[in-house]
Amino acid sequence: MASVQLNHVYKVFPNGVKAVNDFTMDIADKEFIVFVGPSGCGKSTTLRMIAGLEEVSAGEISIGDTVVNDVEPKDRDIAMVFQNYALYPHMTVYENMAFGLRIRKMKKEEIDARVQEAARILGITEYLDRKPKAMSGGQRQRVALGRAIVREPKVFLLDEPLSNLDAKLRTTMRAEISKLHHKLQTTFIYVTHDQTEAMTMGTRIVVMKDGFVQQIDSPRNLYRYPANKFVAGFIGTPQMNFFESKLKLNKDKVTVTLDNTPVSLEVPSSYFNKTDRAYLDGEKSVILGLRAEHISVDANQYPFKAKCRVSHTEELGTDCQVYADFNIDGEETVGESETRVIVKAPAGSYYEVDELIEVSLDLSHIHVFDAETEETIAPRIPAQVIADGTVKGGVLSTLGAKIKLPSAIVADDGKYRVAIPTSAVNFDGDIAADVITEENVNGQSLVHLQVGKDVLFALADTNSQIGQQVKIGLDLKQITLFKDGEAVVLPLAAENVITGKLAKHKITVEKEIKGKLKKVGELAFTLEAADASFSYPQTLAMRLINGGGQDIFNKSLELRFAPNQVKISDDGITAQVERVLDYGTECYAVCKVGDKTVNVRVEQGFDKTEVKLALEAESLAISEPTRAIRLV
Ligand code: ADP
Ligand code: MG
Repeated sequence: MASVQLNHVYKVFPNGVKAVNDFTMDIADKEFIVFVGPSGCGKSTTLRMIAGLEEVSAGEISIGDTVVNDVEPKDRDIAMVFQNYALYPHMTVYENMAFGLRIRKMKKEEIDARVQEAARILGITEYLDRKPKAMSGGQRQRVALGRAIVREPKVFLLDEPLSNLDAKLRTTMRAEISKLHHKLQTTFIYVTHDQTEAMTMGTRIVVMKDGFVQQIDSPRNLYRYPANKFVAGFIGTPQMNFFESKLKLNKDKVTVTLDNTPVSLEVPSSYFNKTDRAYLDGEKSVILGLRAEHISVDANQYPFKAKCRVSHTEELGTDCQVYADFNIDGEETVGESETRVIVKAPAGSYYEVDELIEVSLDLSHIHVFDAETEETIAPRIPAQVIADGTVKGGVLSTLGAKIKLPSAIVADDGKYRVAIPTSAVNFDGDIAADVITEENVNGQSLVHLQVGKDVLFALADTNSQIGQQVKIGLDLKQITLFKDGEAVVLPLAAENVITGKLAKHKITVEKEIKGKLKKVGELAFTLEAADASFSYPQTLAMRLINGGGQDIFNKSLELRFAPNQVKISDDGITAQVERVLDYGTECYAVCKVGDKTVNVRVEQGFDKTEVKLALEAESLAISEPTRAIRLV
């Protein structure tokens, strides 16, 4: 039994292929985790790094409380099952299962007990004397599982174990592996390219594409709240319908138009509470997503109606998939059409080719994505809300409240739009708000707040009641003010970036060897940044060297740190103070180090013009910009 942690893990193969990028995840003990994604997306490579069959290029992998980067595969307490079973053909089933234990010099009675128990769990007791070639694919895969079970590992790693089996057997084995997980009460990590396997087996699923994790979530949440168009299209059959669209906010309605179709729908703006308002201008292209089961051939089922032209139907027995097109005058074949729509209709539905039908849409299940980045523009925890505001004499009127602007925020009188990040909303202020609802987002409590005419979101530590009146505050250093579409007041950067280099030094230290004090040579490491040098712990330096290679000492590195992870000190990096930003409760000095800006938290009344900055070397995030790899 063990948890598994991946901490900024990368894999770059010697030929330069970046197979895995910045994979970070905490896997709890006893979870059933599935890695899913198209072929070549880095699933096997990640699994093989956990197993120790592949070296980690950068980052750390821990099993239980132990960092295993340098631990041999055989000492990691894991067992791996492969697609091709990898059984020894000349050995019986019994011997195949016992072999690994014999090598470990386990007692004969213990081996026998474990093999018999595993055979019983897997229902292969009667085949123990057979050779693999006299068994079916499904039976062989059971033997491969048995060989893993007898090891009693802390973690099971399974790489597409069912891909060689036919569809029917796959379904049976799927259920058996789930049962096995339940019986063994151990952590499972399971790789597959099949989204149905992922959805039916995983307690949580990691969707991957091109070496990048796209989303980590429960099957239900992946289906309901896909983070981007790729996940939305990958999970669920038939594939989600996508349409290029425009959204225009007008008072309490949003007009939804589908490009190249006559479809135009008036939707209550509350459907778009979480949608980034910047996209509701009627001009920006968005991709709208709606699943087949949220469209009905009964025009009266949902309040939003649209006409489409039927091209063909597929009867599936349980229901019928109707292929149609919202572009009712289109010439394109339905396969190529960008306005094609699949609708789930009752089994036995019949339509003529080219028949015009009216469908109704359940827009409470609508998804919206940026047309270029394909990321959702209505995330479960909204990044920000944009409210209207007016500044007069240094007082900002917004959200039905008057906020005296601190000296850090200088804004002329006039009308503004105020971008308020969710992270900037707290329950420590005097702006009146009503709790609309509270939502659990993967363990975090997201409170929806009615504030004046706007809906705001906040993450809360304590529970709040629906309808409850609360007082909220805003962290003003996080807000942006827009005037005529231009950002005129920017938030304080939450992260500083400067460049530096790793250096090594030969030093002599006194060590006690066989009771005598002796001088020995050792290596010490420093980080060189601007005109200063900071000692750097050897363990972290080794991670830089392992990830960056022996020429790491010649490489320019990016050092990242938060404004409160740098201190004004007697020595350190020389920085010129450009100005001091006073946000009322907090002050920050904006400093120049070469051509880089560094923000530093300072005391009220701070008035120096030149300072020395000391970095907390242990807490720096360090990356190699040329290969875009975070090393520490
Ligand atoms: P998946 O298991 O998701 O199908 P893999 O993890 O096997 O994908 O591979 C991810 C990427 O890494 C692919 O582009 C693959 O070609 C590449 N790759 C895998 N192994 C090696 C290797 N030994 N050398 C170079 N490239 C590799
Ligand atoms: Mg693979």
